[in-house]
Amino acid sequence: MTEHVNLILRAKTLIDGLGGAPISQGLVAIANDKIVYAGAAAHAPVFPPEAQTLDLSDACLLPGLIDMHSHPTFYWEEPDLATYTDDADGVSAYPPAMITLLAASNLRKALLSGVTTLRDTGSVNDIMFDVKRGAQKGLIPAPRLFVSGRLIIPTGGHCHNLAGLTNQADGPVEFRRAVREEIRAGADFIKLANDKQDLTQEELNAAVDEAHRLGKKVACHTIWAPSQRMAIEAGADTFEHGTPSPEEIDLAAKKGIAWTPTINMSVEYLKWYEQQSRHADPKTAEAARKGYANQSRYLEQKHASMEYALKAGLRIVTGTDSFMRDVRFDAVPDEIRRFVEYGCTPMQAIQAATLWAAQSMDWPDIGALQPGKVADIIAVSGDPLADNRAMDTIVMVMLEGKVANYQQTTTISRE
Ligand SMILES: [Zn+2]
Repeated sequence: MTEHVNLILRAKTLIDGLGGAPISQGLVAIANDKIVYAGAAAHAPVFPPEAQTLDLSDACLLPGLIDMHSHPTFYWEEPDLATYTDDADGVSAYPPAMITLLAASNLRKALLSGVTTLRDTGSVNDIMFDVKRGAQKGLIPAPRLFVSGRLIIPTGGHCHNLAGLTNQADGPVEFRRAVREEIRAGADFIKLANDKQDLTQEELNAAVDEAHRLGKKVACHTIWAPSQRMAIEAGADTFEHGTPSPEEIDLAAKKGIAWTPTINMSVEYLKWYEQQSRHADPKTAEAARKGYANQSRYLEQKHASMEYALKAGLRIVTGTDSFMRDVRFDAVPDEIRRFVEYGCTPMQAIQAATLWAAQSMDWPDIGALQPGKVADIIAVSGDPLADNRAMDTIVMVMLEGKVANYQQTTTISRE
């Protein structure tokens, strides 16, 4: 393989994502879109002299980041919502082209922040399927996309009022039908949503069984008890948000199920309540104070869940849940920082954003810098283990062996 190497990356440090100590004077050799060698430059084999070398000097090489929970088409909280909708109730008509452009803009931000794989956990109608095809054709810069299509919920369930976002079903048979509909439309995995016990266990089991029968993974939105237990019992592959109990964490770990705690989004909610609690309208302010107290408790419980999850060996993964205006599409580094605040080592937090995320979805080609894996690589400025602010300065993003953030000079040929 070494004779096919066409690109060599060098940097001061290399973190391969496998959990070992960082390697100093790192080198990654790439043949087209695949990694051929990743390790110490001193131990690298001999590569063809014509291979190009990109010396990133003081930077640190890492596997591309994975955002396991994102909503690029979520337009409802845009400040200029009125320009996206033209009907009186504001929910039932909107220009798909505008939502598509919003998604494209969000995906570009995500990619440039080092996200090379992004799971869209619920989007408007069929828009993301076309966005994904467009990205694959190279029409827009975007991470590799895994798209769920619409959220599958019971009638009146989570986000039912957001037009186009949900596929509503009732009874196990209809849940199977809804799963088939999303898969027919192009879903790479299935997203279910259960706030508390909006679904029956039978409905949840049927949906998960149908998805698995058709070879697709399942992510399940959860918040309040018993939604986490229900998702874990049904065998969803990842459960999102919430505050799982020690028993639930043990069961999930045993079943190989992963948790996407979306901590940063919850912290942003807390900040929002804090801001609203100073609202001029006393009723709004009072409601926000209550919301703040509830959210504080929720975060305390989440912290306890994280600490237990780490002890129990539950696979935890990074998801930004970027739908709020204040949760940025480049927020994976924020989530990594929250993971560290909540008990992860910096290395564990990086693994949650890379290898563990890939493992949770059985994506064998990504998540680490290792021979045979796809060359999804980022370089950040400085040492992210010593100071995770380093993750905010992205020197290079490479997707499938191609540098995605180069400074390009355009020369237009006029024949
Ligand atoms: Zn979400």
